[in-house]
Amino acid sequence: MPLPEERASARRVIEDLKELAKLTSNERGAQRVAWGPVWREARDWFTAKVDRGVGVKTTRDSAGNLWASLPGSGKGSIVIGSHIDSVPGGGWLDGVLGVVAGLEVLRRFKEGGTTPPVTIHVVDWADEEGARFGRSLTGSAASAGALDAHGELAHLVDRQGVKLPDALAENDVTLDGMMQARAYFDSLDPLAYLELHIEQGPVLEEQRDPVGVVLGTMGVERYNLKFVGQAAHSGAAPLHLRKDAFLAAAQFALDCRAISVRHSGKTPRTRVVATCGVVKVEPNFVTAVPGTTEISIDLRALDGKVLQSMLREAKKAAAAAAKKHLVKVEWSPLLHITPRPFDERLMAFARTAVKEVTGKAPELPSGPLHDAAEMAPLVPTAMIFAQSSPGISHTRFEDTPEPALDKSIRAFLKLVDATLAALPLAPAKRGKRR
Ligand SMILES: [Zn+2]
Repeated sequence: MPLPEERASARRVIEDLKELAKLTSNERGAQRVAWGPVWREARDWFTAKVDRGVGVKTTRDSAGNLWASLPGSGKGSIVIGSHIDSVPGGGWLDGVLGVVAGLEVLRRFKEGGTTPPVTIHVVDWADEEGARFGRSLTGSAASAGALDAHGELAHLVDRQGVKLPDALAENDVTLDGMMQARAYFDSLDPLAYLELHIEQGPVLEEQRDPVGVVLGTMGVERYNLKFVGQAAHSGAAPLHLRKDAFLAAAQFALDCRAISVRHSGKTPRTRVVATCGVVKVEPNFVTAVPGTTEISIDLRALDGKVLQSMLREAKKAAAAAAKKHLVKVEWSPLLHITPRPFDERLMAFARTAVKEVTGKAPELPSGPLHDAAEMAPLVPTAMIFAQSSPGISHTRFEDTPEPALDKSIRAFLKLVDATLAALPLAPAKRGKRR
């Protein structure tokens, strides 16, 4: 029997996504929050689909990641993954698009009556979003051996006061188990990792591109700064004697904007961003010169050297702003993530696949993190983005027009086929990855 036609496959994926949305959403959007009842229901739905469509049983690893595997004829495997979990009030595509597209890959082999050249694993990573406890990429980080479960998770509590270890226990997962997930992942002998996801931003929409090739996930440097001056009466304090902490923070925010503009190149690879998302002023009333101001800075770039230059310049800017306004500044680190560039060989397959379906192959970096970012240091990794329109996510208004969804799924199927045909991959050119 021949493989199902790719358009029919894409249609089936879209129908499944609609079915899951109906099953796991309410008027506020998707409610598949990790470790909770709706999430478990969504996973049961997936398990039943795998059972019926592929004829294999799903399994769970010790970190709670859910695996569906179709044995291949040769050694090694490829892993196709994303996440079924959503933020509360999330959209119908974030994460599940990649998991259901993976399911379709398995169904195609099953229906075609062919054995894949290597085993294909489809994984639904547990708690990608971190929506309930604040730690995102939990399952994929555990599999990558990049999670200190006791140090990072033991103390986390949700808004209802439930401890993360207790929520894990409801799902038969323990912190010790989380620490063993890497061994399971290694036992699969993965040769490549592939992920299809929605962009979640406006870039492809603005370019009118339905599908894009992801270059990697940007590195992140995130800090909280505290400018400390002196609170004073707004009428009594003359300008030259003020120590206005807010003005220093405001100057810093404008300087960070200038730093990001200066470092942004013209190509997708050289796009960078800087954001001051939180500002807290004290004492915070209209007749007070602000005595302290806390401000956050989140810097992102795909090139690690550029990211470090941005951070150095931001530090200089903060010191200069503090000096000018006669205040002091302290930095506290919040998050440090190195850039995760994807595999050049797989990206070449992705470019060919996207071009075959859409006529061109636009590239873009991912500002948001994805499970693929945890995989990239371990195994050659590539990702394809479907356009988001409107270019927003983590809301029920998240959407991708069906023609773009169709193209993204077909391009992804081609990427999988090309990857399978090329395994084992020839050594990377400069061999610096892994
Ligand atoms: Zn996602």
